[in-house]
Amino acid sequence: MEYRELGKTGLVVSRLCFGALTIGPLQRRMTPKEGGEVISRAFAQGVNFLDTAELYGTYPHIREALSRVERPEEIVIATKSYAPSRERMARSLEQARREMDIDVVPIFLLHEQESIHTLRGHRPALDYLLEAKAEGIVKAVGISTHYVGAVWAAAEMPEIDVISPLINLTGIGIQGGTRDEMLAAISHAARHGKGIYAMKPLGGGHLLSSWAAALDFCLQQDDLAAVAVGMKSVEEVDHNVRYFNGERSLPQPDNNHRKLHVEEWCIGCGSCVAACPNSALGIVDGRAEVVEPSSCVFCGYCGASCPEFAIKVI
Ligand code: SF4
Ligand code: SF4
Repeated sequence: MEYRELGKTGLVVSRLCFGALTIGPLQRRMTPKEGGEVISRAFAQGVNFLDTAELYGTYPHIREALSRVERPEEIVIATKSYAPSRERMARSLEQARREMDIDVVPIFLLHEQESIHTLRGHRPALDYLLEAKAEGIVKAVGISTHYVGAVWAAAEMPEIDVISPLINLTGIGIQGGTRDEMLAAISHAARHGKGIYAMKPLGGGHLLSSWAAALDFCLQQDDLAAVAVGMKSVEEVDHNVRYFNGERSLPQPDNNHRKLHVEEWCIGCGSCVAACPNSALGIVDGRAEVVEPSSCVFCGYCGASCPEFAIKVI
């Protein structure tokens, strides 16, 4: 397994980052024990970097996996929260420490930033994280984003250590610009010393049919210290570890496409439509419906916003 320094954070991470969204309640709905086993398999093969979020509901799964490793303090966990205020970020940080049973959160990000304006709106939360960093409770702070403009904005902020942008071979899911414009923003941020790791290298599953080319595209980007790949079985872990270890004659992984399912009891409130960063949803005949299937990256944000538990990735 190749390891890279994550910008100027002092953290050294495996090029393969375990994307934990897939095992949690927004997607595969594994129990903590089941999810912990899948994560452990990755840790046992040299993966030392894991990406999650408060929204993903996977802290118990990660806690389970950390309880199985000899030196859990050497695992680099990146998590994120939508909290905009000091008070809410304090609760988010405390929740992460308590539910994962860790004293120090290696990386804490502002979840899903869109622009300089949302960064300004989250300034109190960022200030709280910076104080936590000064106290040694957090090692590095930053943002995750689907937006080209947010990468440019974060690049100019010296207090931001880490950026997790959406980038992939075809640019699916990138907001506010093209794939190459996102690459230009990433390159600019890297020159400013930011540690950068990619999310959605497989476009939420849309690029599974060109799996190897999609991974190669990200691995060839020198500005990306790591690539977060969602994994939901030990077989997928083994497959990805082998690929990241340089094996290039692997068969295509099972092309088990996901889809969004809207239950009959949807009340058409539109919360999911507003929550979708990719404008993939609309209200049709009083119910939520996927109106732009090619834009959906199966992030599960719509499901998390639904008061009726009526939409989910299956
Ligand atoms: S948030 Fe839930 S209830 Fe509201 S429109 Fe979407 S799926 Fe339907
Ligand atoms: S429809 Fe739902 S799962 Fe698909 S991109 Fe939008 S929020 Fe994410």
